[in-house]
Amino acid sequence: MYSMLDTNIQSPVPEEGIPEARIAPITVAGLRVDELIFTQGFVHYCDISKCGGGCCHSGVYADLGERDEILRHADAIGAAMDETQDADTETWFDGEIIDDSDFPSGQAIGTEVMDRDSGVSGFTEGCVFLDKRHFCSIQVAAVNAGLHRWAWKPKYCILFPITVAEGVLTYDDGHSEDLNYCGPTGSGEYVHSVYEAMREELRYFLGETEFGKLEAYYHENRERFEAERMRNNLVRLSV
Ligand code: SF4
Repeated sequence: MYSMLDTNIQSPVPEEGIPEARIAPITVAGLRVDELIFTQGFVHYCDISKCGGGCCHSGVYADLGERDEILRHADAIGAAMDETQDADTETWFDGEIIDDSDFPSGQAIGTEVMDRDSGVSGFTEGCVFLDKRHFCSIQVAAVNAGLHRWAWKPKYCILFPITVAEGVLTYDDGHSEDLNYCGPTGSGEYVHSVYEAMREELRYFLGETEFGKLEAYYHENRERFEAERMRNNLVRLSV
């Protein structure tokens, strides 16, 4: 599957698939786990002032249930948009439904992309829900309604740069490649792993019990993962 839409449609999974040697001997919430999430470096946290919401430049695939949830709250989301966005719900989704077993309903639809001024992200296009401050209007609307900030947001937006590909929880290297702050060739300093940066998101996505399994596995193998991450960081510094 492709979580964050990409105009180049780069899959997070190598053509030959994720090497079996990288798959952890655990499953969480029915998903296999690619150890790359523990060994891939990442910036301290997602800092919109530095990245400009670059990961939203090509929109996202949302489960049809997530689309319906967004449309149910269209008035609140439209009210959170600014003058650079289009509050007409007819313009929010691209109309092409794809089949993909990584989505709960088995089907997903892309959010629309619109032209926008190039900010620090360097992209001249962005998801229809991205506002001029590079905030997500779906998230802003949920907060305005007094709800959890991720209550109405597509799951793959919450999780990025982690994704689910063919039943494997993994790092979305294809989409990350293009990002000039947090991506593998970006300017941001890698201070810990993707997993460490994304604990809160994973806990939200997996639930406390399943997240606990992931956390236990991480701690059991932390030394090995850190050694691998440091090796990866050295490669990155020489890019
Ligand atoms: S829905 Fe929100 S978080 Fe997801 S790509 Fe669009 S602007 Fe970004």
